[in-house]
Amino acid sequence: MTNASLFIYDISYLVTMDQERRVLRDAWVWIEDGYIKELGTTEYPKALPENVSKLSGNGKILIPGLVNTHHHFYQNMARAYTPGNNLPLLPWLKHMNKLWQSFRENDLNLCTRLGLAELMHSGATTVVDHHYVFSEGAENMIDAQFDAASLMGIRFHASRGSMNVKSDLISDWALQSEDTILEDTERLISKFHSDEKGSWQQIIIAPCAATSCSESLLRSSAEIAKKHGVGLHTHCGETVAENEFSLEHLSSRPLDYLLECGWDYNRAWLAHGIHFNNSELEALSEHGIGVAHCPNANMRLGSGICPVPKMLEQGIKVGIGVDGSASNDSGHILGELRQALYLARVDGGAEAMSAMDALELGTWRSAELIGRDDIGRIAAGFCGDCALFPVHDLYSNGCENAVDALLICHPRQVCDLIVGGNIRISNGNILSVDLDELMHSHHNRAEQIQNNLH
Ligand SMILES: [Zn+2]
Repeated sequence: MTNASLFIYDISYLVTMDQERRVLRDAWVWIEDGYIKELGTTEYPKALPENVSKLSGNGKILIPGLVNTHHHFYQNMARAYTPGNNLPLLPWLKHMNKLWQSFRENDLNLCTRLGLAELMHSGATTVVDHHYVFSEGAENMIDAQFDAASLMGIRFHASRGSMNVKSDLISDWALQSEDTILEDTERLISKFHSDEKGSWQQIIIAPCAATSCSESLLRSSAEIAKKHGVGLHTHCGETVAENEFSLEHLSSRPLDYLLECGWDYNRAWLAHGIHFNNSELEALSEHGIGVAHCPNANMRLGSGICPVPKMLEQGIKVGIGVDGSASNDSGHILGELRQALYLARVDGGAEAMSAMDALELGTWRSAELIGRDDIGRIAAGFCGDCALFPVHDLYSNGCENAVDALLICHPRQVCDLIVGGNIRISNGNILSVDLDELMHSHHNRAEQIQNNLH
């Protein structure tokens, strides 16, 4: 992945997401070799090379590229899958898990490209995916995801997932031995992981859940994450049923169990975090463990409401996760932030969260959650990652506050997307892939996979 230089000028609204939440009018940003060198509103920088690539921001709102902290791309071949459309998490999972026995690296590559295209069109420039289904003969799933992400030109953090405990929710073919999982995790870290500034590829160690992994695997996962200083991730606190199952089978609530397994680690974050009691919230804060908030999936499965404003007040790191794609069932990250905004208000009233609070969740707070301090703001020294949206569209026409309207009105798509100074979407068209062809191949394969079970 290469860094590039770009000068974006005449930006109608530049939303910096800096500490003062400054919004600059008629502004410019100079990205040099992948990083933001300067930004301003008055004269252009004197040192600006004449031949630098230029992009007009006229009629556009520029925000930092959005960061998605939790997702399962493979599920986008099972969106709106009838057997699971009206079920809560555990029975929904039981139906979902039957689908993937014939799913291979090529399929995950297709799903990853499609999922990234959705996220990029909605403003994402850094994406975490969590893949934990490795059928026999498909051991190089994560490699296939990195191939897809390189092609699409985005920063990609792959969560190497795992499951090694039998249950009536998971088929035997989806389980791997602890040795296989750990060996592959080490291989992936040495092959792909970079934690240098401006990193394009990272590995996260991500057992699927405390209830689908052995104590030994959870413990080893935390040890390896700490040894390499990489992220550690799992699902936790998603449903009441999960807490009950955990108490019955592990004699402990899932967060306590994870902590007993050495998950007291400030690079750990948990997807969902809905059903934590007060002492568990204190534990998250004390250990620097964060939460990926996934509002659409939580509403779709009727799981509950994550108390995001309360968590932020307690100093708990929270970011946004699109999750799914079969529990969302779309990957529109700006739309996810809108749902976060409104779900917080369902729980805490209209003043519980502002549009800017929601935008923070998708930018520097998500960056912080996944352990990055080089993305999520438009400021000198940060990566040159930006999403440019039209100032208004049909669904926001007539708005008074253009920046709030990005969140308050119906979600829109980007005009342009910039990653490391490279233009990845131009005038609404993604440059790295033939989208029609990708959608056609993906939909055909999805039909095959669904029909295999009929
Ligand atoms: Zn998930």
